[in-house]
Amino acid sequence: MSRIAYVNGQYVPHPEAAVHVEDRGYQFADGVYEVIAVARGALIDEEGHMIRLERSLDELRIARPMGRPALAHIMREVVRRNRVVDGLIYIQMTRGVAPRDHAFPANAETSVVMTAKRTKPANPALLRDGAKVITIPDIRWERCDIKTVSLLPNCLGKQQAREAGALEAWQVDARDGTVTEGTSTNAWIVTKEGEVVTRKADHAILNGITRIAVLEIIARQQGLKFVERPFTVEEAKNAREAFLTSTTAFVTPIVRIDDALVGDGKPGPVAKSLREAYLVHMTEQAAEQGAAA
Ligand code: PLP
Repeated sequence: MSRIAYVNGQYVPHPEAAVHVEDRGYQFADGVYEVIAVARGALIDEEGHMIRLERSLDELRIARPMGRPALAHIMREVVRRNRVVDGLIYIQMTRGVAPRDHAFPANAETSVVMTAKRTKPANPALLRDGAKVITIPDIRWERCDIKTVSLLPNCLGKQQAREAGALEAWQVDARDGTVTEGTSTNAWIVTKEGEVVTRKADHAILNGITRIAVLEIIARQQGLKFVERPFTVEEAKNAREAFLTSTTAFVTPIVRIDDALVGDGKPGPVAKSLREAYLVHMTEQAAEQGAAA
């Protein structure tokens, strides 16, 4: 089946989907994006993603190209045309096409590109054995809360992780040795006292929509305490558990940080139960949307 992309008002075959050479997304990484999970045909945490997308656009003073109902319609159309049941939607919006000049163009129109793809279930070995992460210096800018397409440090970090046989690289603030986040995921630990810790959503991290969902799950669960604060690499290596969250990885246990085993070197019970609870959260949303359709 051939894939279809949405590009500035048109649904086009994926191999022919293209943007202008003077699109500011291409020239300057002057744009933002979102990635939304599709489960059983339903869009997971759509509202949270829309709020974050609008915030990213507003922070960069990129004009919102359309209202939420129009965007919701296109997202569903892209999912439908690509026959995605379980997968991902990618939305990119840039400041548009204009003659190359660093300053904002006077009247460019926001470019909108959307694609969707199917995904396979997570590798069972990864969930059974847990993942490895490495730590690297955080060399990004001071507005990591904006979900910009400017991802070069993240790409370099992920490649370094790949070459080290790790799933992810945790970026570390050189000023105080605290972990900010992964290159495409948020970072969590469970302390020896059983407290779940993740950095608060300041300008140093992207406020993950999965992060928000997991915090809500913890808040509802009996007996689990959480605190939003930075933690150091040392603290993480000595933690009882570690895990990461994202739209693409859900909740994934971490068993090794650099050369240190976390806990007993096996996925921990908190990470496992949060993953299960997150999968239930997705199933519930799919059921609600199915019922509403
Ligand atoms: N941190 C960064 C740098 C990311 O790029 C992402 C996702 O792409 C996340 C965290 C996780 O965010 P979400 O849970 O919304 O996927």
